[in-house]
Amino acid sequence: VKDPADPVPFPKPVKHGVEFKHVDFAYQDNSVLKDFNLRLEPGKVVALVGPSGSGKTTAAHLLCRFMDPSKGSISVDGLSLESFDLSELRSNLSIVGQDTFLFHDTVANNIAYGSENATRQAIEDAAKAAAAHTFIKELPGGYDTFLGERGINLSGGQRQRIAIARALLRDTPLLILDEATSALDVESEADIQSALERLTYNRTSLVIAHRLTTIMRADLIVFLNDGRIVESGTHTELIASNGEYARWWNLNQREDRLRE
Ligand code: ADP
Repeated sequence: VKDPADPVPFPKPVKHGVEFKHVDFAYQDNSVLKDFNLRLEPGKVVALVGPSGSGKTTAAHLLCRFMDPSKGSISVDGLSLESFDLSELRSNLSIVGQDTFLFHDTVANNIAYGSENATRQAIEDAAKAAAAHTFIKELPGGYDTFLGERGINLSGGQRQRIAIARALLRDTPLLILDEATSALDVESEADIQSALERLTYNRTSLVIAHRLTTIMRADLIVFLNDGRIVESGTHTELIASNGEYARWWNLNQREDRLRE
């Protein structure tokens, strides 16, 4: 992955969205995505769903330009990802992952990572919207508590809320969200769900989705199997067409009920 010799500015605002066109990608000789075509409409949420190993993470990583497709193109408003400076592309994209990296620094600085000029008020507002303010206030030093290595350890749900606050504060046009597969406690699950709704609201988002509520709410669900899109549509449409997604949904709902 290289910076272009003549970079073009990243479109502000993003008017037409993101487009994957005939994208192929392989790790060595393991072909992962095959003729992958997908449009992310501006301000909308696309949920990638499918069995483990079907290529969801690979598609998200291609959008971050961690690697380039072997065939086809990915563009924002018709401009190839490869035409932007990498640093500019990444400053327009937030990633909220399963495992949030916390620096050995204060809570406030951890939230402000990537938005260095943020005021304390803006940091607290982001934490409130991410349902993180209450637990932060209860830490021994509040927003000035040291985290990470040799600092306070946070639970998985708390770390996720810090990541959501960080992304809310950065307020980038593009968002990649990799939802946790591991079950969180019921209380943080509800909090995180509403924080995620605030984060994806009006933001062009690609979600590697595991939560049934997230999937149901997505503007478009794309069901992947073995690197190919086998079905796409809204939840209602896909349930009505009674195909692979509907089977997958019924199975997952049953598993959810068993867990309760
Ligand atoms: P998903 O997110 O749907 O579980 P991934 O995109 O992670 O799927 O993986 C798709 C395929 O690519 C899998 O067969 C996986 O083993 C392979 N793969 C993923 N990452 C790498 C890597 N860094 N090197 C080699 N193969 C990989």
